[in-house]
This record gives sequence, C-alpha cells and structure tokens, in this order.
Amino acid sequence: MSVYGASVTKLIEKFESLPGVGHKSAERMAFFLLRKSEDEVRDFAEAIFDARKHLRFCSVCQNMSDKETCDICSNASRDRSVICVVQEPRDVQAIERSREFSGTYHVLHGAISPMNGIGPDDIRIKELLSRLDGSVKEVIVATNSDVEGEATAMYIARLIKPLGVRVTRIARGLPVGGDLEYADDVTLGAALQHRVDI
Ligand SMILES: [Zn+2]
Repeated sequence: MSVYGASVTKLIEKFESLPGVGHKSAERMAFFLLRKSEDEVRDFAEAIFDARKHLRFCSVCQNMSDKETCDICSNASRDRSVICVVQEPRDVQAIERSREFSGTYHVLHGAISPMNGIGPDDIRIKELLSRLDGSVKEVIVATNSDVEGEATAMYIARLIKPLGVRVTRIARGLPVGGDLEYADDVTLGAALQHRVDI
C-alpha cells in the first residue's frame, strides 16, 4: 500500500537505491525536491542525465573525463614513468588532495572479487598492461586494503614484475579494510611516501 501515490513512491524508491541512503533519507530527499518548482526539478534531473550522457573515460588512464585525454595525462609536468593504480575515480581525487604524487594514474574501475563474479577481465587491467612500454619504471598499487583490494594488488604484481617494472604497494597506516577515499590527506600522503615493494 502506498500512502503517497505511485509516482512519489517510485521516486522515494529511486533515492533509496543509492549507496548509503536509507528509507527515511530517501523520503526527505524526495519531499525536498517536490517542494521545488518544476524548472528547478528539471534542472536537477537534466544535470544527472547530462553527466551520464557526456561520460567518457580518458584513453590513457581510464579516469572519468570529458576529453579524449584527461588533464592529468596531458599535463607535461607529470612524471609518466610512475603509474599509481587505484580502484575508483574518487581515489584519484583523494591522492591528488594529498599533494604527494606527481606521477600519473590508472583507474581499474573495481577490484577482483571472485565472490561477486568479478575477474581480472572485468576491470581495466589490460589497459594498464598496454601502458607498460618500457618508459614506465614503477607501478604503485593503491587499491583498498580489504580482501578484494589486496587480491587485486597481488594479481597485478604477479603480472607486472616479470616485465622488469618495480611494483610497490602503498604503506599501511591506512585503516585496514578501509576505503582509500576516506583516508585523510596526511595519512594518504605518508602511505604513498612509505610504500613498499611487493
Ligand atoms: Zn588520463
């Protein structure tokens, strides 16, 4: 039974499907929007749709970008001999905030997780390998410190080390099992500085 009518109930369900949003928050968001004018609501909906429509990935690092090559990859002052591998675009943002890294990135868009049926071919590892053309000296694996992140780091190390590329892992000090994006700038900066070979 729906006390709000079908369309409002559907809107609440859509908000509730977002990560970290419970039923009460979903209701609050839905009613907040419904008090706005039709124009304001259209702007909001179009912002979501436009972002999705224009979504592209950098052909080099696979990060989200609205260009063929993202600003970091096309910046001549970035060190192309070091690649920092992360799981998600938001991890790039977190490491950039630490201001400890002047190399380039590679975004995997996930981690290996046999439990969830995600194998090496389901994340962007092939694209990483294709970047190792001899000019790359070090790959820093900055995946999360949970089971999936560790498994992914080990898989990448096994694949890349035989190519003569140094493979390092960001140091502990990051909360074990925690997501990179929640680490504070200082912790993340220290973890990068004290990385270890794997
Ligand atoms: Zn890029």
